[in-house]
Amino acid sequence: MIQAMREVIVAGNWKMHTVPAEAGQLARTIAARTRIPGVTRVICPPYTSLAAVGAALAEHDPDVGVGAQNVHHELQGAYTGEVSAPMLAGLAGWVIVCHSERRRDAGETDALIGRKLQRAIEAGLRPILCVGELLAEREAGQQETVVSRQVRGALADQAPATLEAARLVIAYEPVWAIGTGRTASGRDAAAMAAAIRATLTELGFTDGGERVPVLYGGSVTSASMDEFMAEPSIDGALVGGASLKPDEMAGIVTRAGLTATARAGSV
Ligand code: PEP
Repeated sequence: MIQAMREVIVAGNWKMHTVPAEAGQLARTIAARTRIPGVTRVICPPYTSLAAVGAALAEHDPDVGVGAQNVHHELQGAYTGEVSAPMLAGLAGWVIVCHSERRRDAGETDALIGRKLQRAIEAGLRPILCVGELLAEREAGQQETVVSRQVRGALADQAPATLEAARLVIAYEPVWAIGTGRTASGRDAAAMAAAIRATLTELGFTDGGERVPVLYGGSVTSASMDEFMAEPSIDGALVGGASLKPDEMAGIVTRAGLTATARAGSV
């Protein structure tokens, strides 16, 4: 029953793509092509395009959320080039916390991620926490251990009730599938969603973590979305490369809409 109520979400991570002059138009086009009932849509452009995307969506489709791709773990200070959670006020309602590209390029650790989450929540941002194993870890059969450790490391210092009130979303993104054209199988993604929720249970989340949406991310396209949405434990996708392509987003959100409609019908 709880699964039937869980929100279906498609979030697009534009990564380091788009300049402000083009971002508003792209967001408008994607919004117009993805108006599907029951699917929560979010666009996460670079910081420099947040204002342009926000303005375009406010005018054309305020139902689409705007997210930042990162947030700093301190409120202010001598952190050149960084952006804190309070600085995102009025620009973003969501934030991606700890994308694997930031673990890789900025050396973000689970402890740091916990602090980022805390700052995001204090600022009223809805967090999408990314977790996922490296290829070598999967080949060694360590994927569940790694992802459970990441979830625990990021969440253990916060009260589950606070995280639930902030409407935390978790994205399972196997690192070997990001930007590679390779995807996990739906079955593997579902197994990882189960491992994530088992960890949430250990941490004391309500209903065994069944209230927390778990997305899949890693080379999702309109062609592969069905594989993931066919799994009852998967609640949508965090989309990278394909999120810059309106046709792809239209197909991805349309498929997510089928699940949203089925869930609404089974409540
Ligand atoms: C991502 O950026 O989170 C992602 C999943 O990228 P891609 O879809 O390009 O693999």
